[in-house]
Amino acid sequence: MGSTRPTELLSDEACHDGGMPYVSTNPTTGLIEAEFDDFSDAQVDAGLELAAAQFQSWKTTSFEDRARYMITAAELLEGELPVHAQTLTKEMGKTFAAAKGEVAKCALTMRYYAEHAESLLAEVAMESSGSRSGVRFEPIGPVLAVMPWNFPLWQVVRFAAPSLMAGNVAVLKHASNVPQAALLLESVFRRAGFPEGCFVNLFIPGSKVASVIQDHRIAAVTLTGSEAAGMSVGAAAGGALKKCVLELGGSDPFVIADSADFEKTIPMAVTSRIQNNGQSCIAGKRFIVVDSRADEFLEKFTAAMTAVQMGDPLDPATVLGPVVSASQRAEVIGQVDDALERGAVALTGGVSAEGPGFFYPPTVLTGVTSEMRAGNEEIFGPVAVVHRVADLDAAIALGNDIPWGLGASIWAQDANEQQKGIEGLVAGMVFVNAVVGSMPELPFGGTKRSGFGRELSAIGMHEFCNAKTFFVA
Ligand code: NAP
Repeated sequence: MGSTRPTELLSDEACHDGGMPYVSTNPTTGLIEAEFDDFSDAQVDAGLELAAAQFQSWKTTSFEDRARYMITAAELLEGELPVHAQTLTKEMGKTFAAAKGEVAKCALTMRYYAEHAESLLAEVAMESSGSRSGVRFEPIGPVLAVMPWNFPLWQVVRFAAPSLMAGNVAVLKHASNVPQAALLLESVFRRAGFPEGCFVNLFIPGSKVASVIQDHRIAAVTLTGSEAAGMSVGAAAGGALKKCVLELGGSDPFVIADSADFEKTIPMAVTSRIQNNGQSCIAGKRFIVVDSRADEFLEKFTAAMTAVQMGDPLDPATVLGPVVSASQRAEVIGQVDDALERGAVALTGGVSAEGPGFFYPPTVLTGVTSEMRAGNEEIFGPVAVVHRVADLDAAIALGNDIPWGLGASIWAQDANEQQKGIEGLVAGMVFVNAVVGSMPELPFGGTKRSGFGRELSAIGMHEFCNAKTFFVA
């Protein structure tokens, strides 16, 4: 650990299937910064034992005590914010500003659940023929979280903070390219005073996830990641008759209606596509603009994307850093090249950057059809596909013409157009005049092949609770 060596020595093309350890590669330099071995079976067993044992006392710990630890964890993150942000930037390439924002959002969410968990989980009285009846929300046990690398702290905290406050304990299998983020969180929860076993980190390959799900000590599983991982985790959970929540990918529409205010829409379109270096599940990926506004949108959006400053993510002037890995960049190159070979046009970008690191420039494509990879796959990089359509009905129809449905947005000043988008777009979330985002007080999740179940808010907390009906005659 600690030494740096060229990535080529350990190709990230190979999947993490047990032969590979956890490797932290700096996407800006392409150099390996740290490596950690996978856990042995005995270490995994010990972790699960700790979690199961701790659940027996944690489930009866008062909300007040749980909140005290959670607020201490938030204070630690806030007090150590620049250090943790730098870890994120070096490990997965997001800009330092974005990394600081992610750490702060985690702390804010911890505070939110510390303050609100008791009321969000309050017993609900229900009218019935009995003298007293209703529903209680009780914790169910250790929940396994299989998490991705793109928001390496936030994805974990948005699961762990509500789960711990609900009285469950958390077992983390983080993505194999963000081991330092996993260790950072484990350290924060431990130093905040959470009893041992409340938050257990396991360094295991994807191929071992099914056996952990099947283990009698695990009560349920949540996955954020790709469709392939979703199918695998969902099948394992089904086979073990355990509850699962799946947060998967998408190719969300960013619909620009006739009444859109371009002063706001253009910069937000850029932010939506390049945030997190183009690697956000809820990024606007397909920009669908009505014909009456299309020429103006294309001109202004292309100019704004061209002006985006790409470079070292630690430099405060940088807006776009590298994508996470050599294989991720190769994927983006393949998708764009395929589109260009089949007749699409790059209005800006479209050619991979030279030099060290995994940089890919902001790119705007037009003329993309459903026969092209860029027309039927999620693009996890700073590449915007722009479609021109006749009117708002056609925009919504095209917006829905995908197998996924995560977070759509519509940009319109007119109330009728806004409502049409809210009702017509098939997605887990529809945002109006705002980039789709996640916040502790609102449910987050998708429909169709973007997964099922919800995180955040009371609805997310209830996913991993036993909604116990009681009836007193
Ligand atoms: P990924 O390959 O599916 O990895 C996500 C996690 O699943 C990692 O911990 C990975 O472990 C594990 N994993 C991979 N294959 C597995 C398998 N067969 N069985 C069990 N676990 C497995 O996803 P990614 O490509 O890193 O992340 C990008 C995807 O996540 C995109 O599609 C993005 O849209 C989606 N995403 C969705 C949301 C949401 O909230 N809906 C949020 C962020 C990202 P290893 O690293 O060890 O392989």
